[in-house]
Amino acid sequence: MSFGPDSRWYAGPEFLQREESCWPKMDKTPIPTTEELRQPVLQHVESPSPWIEVHRFSRWERLQRSVAYVHRFLKRRRLSKAEGIALTREELQQAERTLWRFAQSEIFAEELRILKANKRLDRGYEKNIDCGSPLAKLSPFVDEHGVIRMETRSLNAAYAPCSVIILPRHHRITFLIVDWYHRRYGHANNETVVNEMRQSFHVSRLRTLIKQVAKQCQHCIVKKAKPQIPRMGPLPEVRMTPYVRPFTYTGVDYCGPFLVKVGRSLVKRWIALFTCMTIRAVHLEVAYSLSTDSFKMVVRRFIARRGAPIEIFSDNGTNFRGASNELKEEMKTINKELAATFTNTITKWNFNPPLAPHMGGCWERLVRSVKSALSGLELVKNPDDETLWTLMIEAEAMVNSRPLTYAPLDSVEEEALTPNHFMMLSSSGVCQPPRSLVDDRMQIRSNWRLIQHLLNQFWSRWIKEYLPTITRRTKWFKDVKPVEEGDVVIVVDEGTRNGWIRGRVARTLPGKDGRVRQADVETGSGILRRPVAKIAVLDVVRGKASAALRVGACSFRVSSNRSILQYGCDQTDRFERG
Ligand SMILES: [Zn+2]
Repeated sequence: MSFGPDSRWYAGPEFLQREESCWPKMDKTPIPTTEELRQPVLQHVESPSPWIEVHRFSRWERLQRSVAYVHRFLKRRRLSKAEGIALTREELQQAERTLWRFAQSEIFAEELRILKANKRLDRGYEKNIDCGSPLAKLSPFVDEHGVIRMETRSLNAAYAPCSVIILPRHHRITFLIVDWYHRRYGHANNETVVNEMRQSFHVSRLRTLIKQVAKQCQHCIVKKAKPQIPRMGPLPEVRMTPYVRPFTYTGVDYCGPFLVKVGRSLVKRWIALFTCMTIRAVHLEVAYSLSTDSFKMVVRRFIARRGAPIEIFSDNGTNFRGASNELKEEMKTINKELAATFTNTITKWNFNPPLAPHMGGCWERLVRSVKSALSGLELVKNPDDETLWTLMIEAEAMVNSRPLTYAPLDSVEEEALTPNHFMMLSSSGVCQPPRSLVDDRMQIRSNWRLIQHLLNQFWSRWIKEYLPTITRRTKWFKDVKPVEEGDVVIVVDEGTRNGWIRGRVARTLPGKDGRVRQADVETGSGILRRPVAKIAVLDVVRGKASAALRVGACSFRVSSNRSILQYGCDQTDRFERG
């Protein structure tokens, strides 16, 4: 085929260059077909465009006032008469009726047409509403303002309304009216709203609608937001490491002040509490002041007597529950100083996150035990230093002789395992380990073997009896939706609910099990690091988060999963005194 300048491709078919009468004729006889031939029907339907865009309004009262102003504008144009600035009651009522009519005409257009036509007819000739319509069973009628109403059965009761307005359930106006009632009755009880609304309106499945409104109400979302606590974390390794020297993993806490008499004056003393994280033994030391040097000496005394720990854990001072303010303030600097001094190639100093008492539950609990032990010793009023020292050591002995495991009552020989078993080979040091009389060299060896054997026995009991009790989860079982970066949250600190700070999660910090346990929250006053137990996610639809934060618009959803906020300690508490 050629594509030259004279080819058919460029010049077109030959007959086009001839007269039109010479063009070839087309055969117009219809092709026989068995298919049904349908005549196309075009119908033109005109629907009036809404003159007010109700979806642009988020509040009923604003919509109502806007409509009232529109009415006033139209009236003034006709009458050119100036009125007062404030809207009158009549104007607002007119606006209200307009909006009801608007909602009804959008959803019940056909029914409204029939009802209006019926009004013009005599009784007996009325046309019935289609029985599939939601209005069919409501005995509706149109009042003098053109609003569809339902006749109630209390026609003859003076105190009850004889008719109520029918509102379509799936209309924005109905939604706004319900929202107005919800806010007017203090966001409190859905049943109150049901009761109040039913006196003026009929809305099908009203309760469900009210629930929907309450779900989208921002005030209610913030009021009900609760932190989602992740599944109870796995125990740290340090609490499950058998066959280590006591106090290899140590927690430090402080309590006080205790007043002692020196000469004629009373001075304050503080107690440093060292906890072995594995066998839960305690070691107490008195600090003579709240100075850093004093606490350095306390730690030095502890290390000299119990050996250098591999890891030391301490709070950073902000979360001593019940500790005096003086101690809280001082501990911030003291802890840092101690960490700087005692972190070396052997020892590592760890800080717990601020404001997470449940994360330091392990030794926080023992502070209480020590305090109750001290009070149980009938602490004399204002003892001197020596007395306090003695009482403190006795309290230490008491806490260390508490059973870690369940003490069986029926078996006399089998005593419960206590921290003292690992340090003194018996619960209180009263029972001496058996001794055989052989020659000295043999005796040393057998004694050493005996001690090794006893210790091994205690450790295997520890693994068998104690470990299972602490590894069981006692609360926070469920997996919850983790906090994510970008989530809009409120930080649940102490104080009133209204005072909680709002912010956005800037960074999440997962724990060893991969679950998010801490997060940095960006707030107006800077970045705060908080455990997720202190963060309540406002379940904002993504993308709208920033807008919602700014204007508090109605784009909130409530998260369905609610966990109860609890603080406390772990399972072992059951076996401890106090
Ligand atoms: Zn609400």
